[in-house]
Amino acid sequence: MRPSVLDPLFAGLTTLDGVGPKLAALFRTLLLPAGSDAALRIRDLLFHLPTGLVDRRRREEIVDAPDGALVTLSLRIDRHIEPERGAGAKPYRVYGHDETGEIALVYFRAQPQWMERLLPIGETMLVSGRVERFNGRPQMVHPDLVVALADADKVPLVEPIYPMTAGLSPKILRKSIAASLSHLPSLGEWIEPSVLSRQSFAPFENALRKAHEPEDGVDVDPRAAHRRRLAYDELLAGQLALAVSRRRIKKAKGHPLKGDGRITARVLAALPFQLTEAQNGAIAEILADMAEDDRMLRLLQGDVGAGKTVVALMAMATAAEASAQSALLAPTEILARQHYQGLAPLCEKAGLRIVLLTGRDNGKARAAKLSAMAEGEVDIVVGTHALFQEGVEYRDLGLVVVDEQHRFGVHQRLSLTRKGRSPDLLVMTATPIPRTLVLAAFGDMDVSRLHGKPAGRKPIATVAVPIERYGEIVERVGKAIADGGKVYWVCPLVEESEKSDLMAAEERHRQLSEIFGDIVGVVHGQMPGDEKDAAMAAFKEGRTRLIVATIVIEVGVDVPDATIIVIEHAERFGLAQLHQLRGRVGRGSKPSSCVLLYRSPLGEVAKARLAVMRETEDGFRIAEEDLKLRGEGDLLGTKQSGLPSFRLANLDIHGDLMEIARDDARLVMATDPELEGPRGEALRTLLYLFGRDDALRLLRAG
Ligand code: ADP
Ligand code: MG
Repeated sequence: MRPSVLDPLFAGLTTLDGVGPKLAALFRTLLLPAGSDAALRIRDLLFHLPTGLVDRRRREEIVDAPDGALVTLSLRIDRHIEPERGAGAKPYRVYGHDETGEIALVYFRAQPQWMERLLPIGETMLVSGRVERFNGRPQMVHPDLVVALADADKVPLVEPIYPMTAGLSPKILRKSIAASLSHLPSLGEWIEPSVLSRQSFAPFENALRKAHEPEDGVDVDPRAAHRRRLAYDELLAGQLALAVSRRRIKKAKGHPLKGDGRITARVLAALPFQLTEAQNGAIAEILADMAEDDRMLRLLQGDVGAGKTVVALMAMATAAEASAQSALLAPTEILARQHYQGLAPLCEKAGLRIVLLTGRDNGKARAAKLSAMAEGEVDIVVGTHALFQEGVEYRDLGLVVVDEQHRFGVHQRLSLTRKGRSPDLLVMTATPIPRTLVLAAFGDMDVSRLHGKPAGRKPIATVAVPIERYGEIVERVGKAIADGGKVYWVCPLVEESEKSDLMAAEERHRQLSEIFGDIVGVVHGQMPGDEKDAAMAAFKEGRTRLIVATIVIEVGVDVPDATIIVIEHAERFGLAQLHQLRGRVGRGSKPSSCVLLYRSPLGEVAKARLAVMRETEDGFRIAEEDLKLRGEGDLLGTKQSGLPSFRLANLDIHGDLMEIARDDARLVMATDPELEGPRGEALRTLLYLFGRDDALRLLRAG
């Protein structure tokens, strides 16, 4: 149960004075990811941190006020000039002066009565805003603060600036946040004392208060100690949740899986190539883990096309040598099928029995597969999440390999290790994410990295071309096809609805079919599974040579003789996605190219992304650039990549805190794994505060 001390922070926003349903709807847009159905709480408002500061303390005289600077003037109001009727967009002007000169305060669409009350003639007023000079004469358009000199001490001269959403006024937002702050309870300290003192962290509530009540520019700097404290809290909650689930996986003692080399030798002999040094290194690390008593919990990181599958096969062959079964889990049917088709011939030569199990199997065929698995007549099962549904039994599941892991949630990751005798877990990810993100997404896992690609790969020539040159590209595609090539044509990701995605792809398919005839195929997410397979198989076997696709082809699809990929509306894709998509080509021995078709005008970020794509193929570098470009608040980018997003932490800035949080979480697991001590209690509060309390259910489940 959530500690009651958190109740004030978990109260609904409408419990705040002045927040009704209309305002709450605006806050929802501002504070929660699009489409979220989570309850909106006071906490969410308090986690909305300022990005800047208005500082009106700078008092100037008119003559010295720098153009464009935010200044506060002390003005005696002289006269009002109403615009003539029917004068269109002419503004209302109020003139005032100080010792040094005169200035016009300019208001558009002003109401005379209201203006007279705001700026009474003969009064001395404090007026704050940006001064500009129009024909040499100073003016200030829509001052952002106007107050009688006598009331000057009643208004804040320093105010935080928050990210906004259309329709919300900064004043209302600030008022609501101030009201929320008055509900801020004092929570126990969950940070380890030595970290606290080394980092000079103030208590959580002080830090949060200071973040919202900045007194100076440094107070809104995310590098300031109080902002780092808040970032640390969020990171610690994440690391602790991951540590709890890791511990639960590790607690169940594994069984050592030691191979004797019989089957792996046959696999090696059956491969049409030599393993690279990187592959051999990763295999050695994995086999060493598997031979241990403890369960393996290892991440295999390698760029697209780095050759992870064969590494997994060597691990699965080793499990079979130890008479244990393996499951290879893919995120989509297409990928499961492809893995199966790729592995089956090798398995046959090596004497490994492999089956494919997906949600599409039913009836007798399914029953036969299930019984073979339960009887131990199968060494390797390839499939989708159907592998871990009720009623699926293994005789002795020793190893689970998860491909493209970041598409699966933490819960799924746990449920899939529940089958069998606490199997070893190998997670393969194609997104070459930086170290901090590995920690953020997976917690404290052991990592093997496959650097580089198998020898003999040709670089992929990447060009960015405006959509106006569509005709030219179609011509080029036609030539490539005539020369025996194969081409992917990826259709725009349309944000509004999946339906329009589909229409875009179908429309393009129709157009290209008119030109090239029936060698054009199409594959998209809404197609029934067997149609998808048929479309991919036709392309792989060369019955179609151009395939129009939505991003269903993003992950893992392997057609080695495809040499061109055209990505339409490339500006709408994230960098990680573009990189994944480009990885569909350049898999064979022929030179390949990637055409990024874009629609102008390009935004700054889109421009930078396309430039990075042209510059490099190094997945690790692309991942780093991606992180930089994405910055904070790009939920779409984060969501697309499946990586966790943070509200108080920014990994670019607070990356150093991640390792500290990891170490601290590790320490907690070593000293108070059930979170029962006094600090443990505070840590439970922390998990609730950041919505990571699902980890606590794991504790209880034991
Ligand atoms: P990914 O890491 O993206 O999953 P794959 O395992 O699908 O990559 O491998 C990509 C392609 O490279 C496959 O066609 C595979 O057969 C081939 N491959 C893997 N290892 C090597 C190697 N050492 N030498 C040559 N080709 C290899
Ligand atoms: Mg793969």
